[in-house]
Amino acid sequence: MNEKELMALADENIMNTYKRFHIVLVKGLGQKVWDVNGKEYLDFVSGIAVCSLGHSHPQVVAALKEQVEKLTHVSNLYYTEPQARLAKLLTDNSFADKVFFCNSGAEANEAAIKLARKYAHEKSGDDTFELITMKDSFHGRTMATITATGQEKFQFGFTPLLEGFTYVPFNDLNALENAITKKTCGIMLEPIQGEGGVIIPDVQYLAAIREMCYRHDILMILDEVQTGIGRTGKLFGYEHSGIRPDIMTLAKALGNGFPVGAMLATDKVAKAFSPGNHASTFGGNPLAMAAAIATVETILQEGLLDVCQKRGEYFLTQLKKLQTKHKVIKEVRGMGLMIACGLTIEGGDIVNECMKKGVLINCTGGKTLRFVPPFIISNQDVDQVINVLDEVLEVK
Ligand SMILES: *Cc1c(COP(=O)(O)O)cnc(C)c1O
Repeated sequence: MNEKELMALADENIMNTYKRFHIVLVKGLGQKVWDVNGKEYLDFVSGIAVCSLGHSHPQVVAALKEQVEKLTHVSNLYYTEPQARLAKLLTDNSFADKVFFCNSGAEANEAAIKLARKYAHEKSGDDTFELITMKDSFHGRTMATITATGQEKFQFGFTPLLEGFTYVPFNDLNALENAITKKTCGIMLEPIQGEGGVIIPDVQYLAAIREMCYRHDILMILDEVQTGIGRTGKLFGYEHSGIRPDIMTLAKALGNGFPVGAMLATDKVAKAFSPGNHASTFGGNPLAMAAAIATVETILQEGLLDVCQKRGEYFLTQLKKLQTKHKVIKEVRGMGLMIACGLTIEGGDIVNECMKKGVLINCTGGKTLRFVPPFIISNQDVDQVINVLDEVLEVK
């Protein structure tokens, strides 16, 4: 089957929920992927902030091979070793005491919403159930998580939404304080808004929300599905603020490409769940656990958080130099290797032209170029992306 036939076959048989680029990818290694014609691309998308160790990382591959031959799936009716080991690894390295495993970011956020409601129910009864979330946030595509997502474009056509959500502008402490009522059970937000366009709040913002949540005795829930597992240069985004949330969700980079999600909480909050309250057939599956253990251990043992920080700083510096040359670049911002360029024009064309020149980047919210490369990139890889952007922007 040639490329055209393959794309036609896909379009004929797969539901029309994605607008895809017209390339067929067949292979990945490190920071590179190849299409069906053998063309090579430098991948600064990483499957949307997922493959932080690069494609087919040897340790993740080895862990998956070993596990697939040993035990693939048994359900949560039984104990398995990989699940206990990953839970310990995550609680040892975070604020959390307990973990619930699932398979995606949306599911992790569903679990967080359920736990927050259950905790509030036990503490204060039926009237405390409201969650405050942020405008321009993104929390997933299930009914509860599109409700939590403060963007109408994700909700349009799917009403009625879930009850009990209110929205305030991101990075606005007054609006947040004013939105808290007797019904509020928690505040849910991303430390840096990802799909919203890599929006970084003021330095004191998270700490102020932490204080607000203590004062009102409500839960602080951080969606670290995109920021978590090192993306911002620390293992978790909240570490930059010197605070500890009550609940945190993870997914994207946790398994370096193997689907896995997790919802973590303090003992105090986690106690609201008892057997029967929440479950997932695939959650904590041995293969997913093996991939995640290998991913987290590799990041910690190989000092990749520092590498992420350093490459990110270099990348930001080079982008700022590029900004002085090209007026269409309005703003450059980022933390670790979660980096964006705010443009004065639509970014779609730029992404397409970079792709033709062998560089994969992403555009979010129309006018923001997003870069979420693997941590294993070199400064030369950054230079290649900068050179390609320079050429592409020359004619804009
Ligand atoms: C991607 C993302 C999600 C949704 O994750 P899925 O695995 O696609 O369900 C939720 N929250 C944030 C912050 C994300 O970036």
